[in-house]
Amino acid sequence: MFVLSNRAKSLKPSPTLAINAKAKSMQAQGIHVISFGAGEPDFDTPQNIKAAAIKAIEEGFTKYTPVGGTDELKDAIIKKFQRDNGLTYKRSEIIASCGGKHSFYNLAQAIFDAGDEVIIPAPYWVSYPPMVALAGAVPVIVETREENGFKLSMEDLKKAITPKTKALIINSPSNPTGGAYTKEELEKIAGMALSHNFFVISDEIYEKIVYDHFKFISIVSLSEEIKKRTIIVHGVAKTYAMTGWRIGYTAGPEEIISAMSNIQSQSTSNPTSIAQKASVEALAGSQKEVFKMVTAFEERRNYIVDRLNKIPGVSCFKPIGAFYVFPNFSSYYVKSYQGKKISNSTELADYLLDVARVAVVPGVEFGADPFERLSYATSMEDIKEGLNRIEEALRKLV
Ligand code: GLU
Repeated sequence: MFVLSNRAKSLKPSPTLAINAKAKSMQAQGIHVISFGAGEPDFDTPQNIKAAAIKAIEEGFTKYTPVGGTDELKDAIIKKFQRDNGLTYKRSEIIASCGGKHSFYNLAQAIFDAGDEVIIPAPYWVSYPPMVALAGAVPVIVETREENGFKLSMEDLKKAITPKTKALIINSPSNPTGGAYTKEELEKIAGMALSHNFFVISDEIYEKIVYDHFKFISIVSLSEEIKKRTIIVHGVAKTYAMTGWRIGYTAGPEEIISAMSNIQSQSTSNPTSIAQKASVEALAGSQKEVFKMVTAFEERRNYIVDRLNKIPGVSCFKPIGAFYVFPNFSSYYVKSYQGKKISNSTELADYLLDVARVAVVPGVEFGADPFERLSYATSMEDIKEGLNRIEEALRKLV
């Protein structure tokens, strides 16, 4: 008798989290690893947000809340969409979950059936294909090109559409590339979704982390028709340095949100009451800290992109948003170290960790082997030291 379900057998851990755990365990052993691994802001959660959580505990706000989040949190989310995106939602169109990942997972469970096809542009965030597959649907990967800013071309999208296409996932600004769609590009995507009758899942978690005065646009804001066909997945983790608090949220058609609520009701129940109070403060309170963090990320982006592009054989797209760079290292995939060949992004990442003590995530995990992903949500000091180490390690390859 087999112990594990086929579902569990074929599932591997999230590579971003696995690499993070490996770097942390090496650090715990006293090895000085510089981690460009998981995308987690190095900043502390802002004080006003922490204070709201402490107050919640002291006031005994520590019991079950409604499954999909408190009305107070839903109202703060509704106000955020109104204020930042000009969007109007009702409470019945909003659900809070235990992180953006949980939001996406429940959404996939709510709308996908066996055989449904879900178009995922590559490079993609590591967990989209497994979450789509866990819902029984088929991930259809469509490649994008670096020279197009890693954005989906309409020709490639069109080729991937079949009568079974249920949804397209977009993530703008993107993890891992930092590419972001303009209004005109989103209009084309929306046109395709409406004419071919599929849903758009818009992961907007990096909305606030944009540079060079880029204006973020939500595809939902384009028309009432596309609003009916789009589900926004969002969360407080990246914007407010709240990765550990686990609050994500989804906005979309009432029928879908209600199904997600039923799934949540039978699985996890409400997200943590205390974290919900903290998230109300994050969304509705002062946004000053966000501005400071984004300014720091922009400075780091400029530095890291510049340094990477100076390394012989490396080219790096300049991100428009999020806090990752996705440099192309493929010219090194023909080299060796002490007789051992390096022929792909995983082997290069292993080499960098073993020899340079620098953690990066192999591009293959994002569906793009020529690249490695580096998160620059880490201190400038570590970025400088990490790049020195990478340069030195690459020089040792023959
Ligand atoms: N989303 C972050 C990343 O890509 C956090 C880890 C994860 O959930 O994958 O690094």
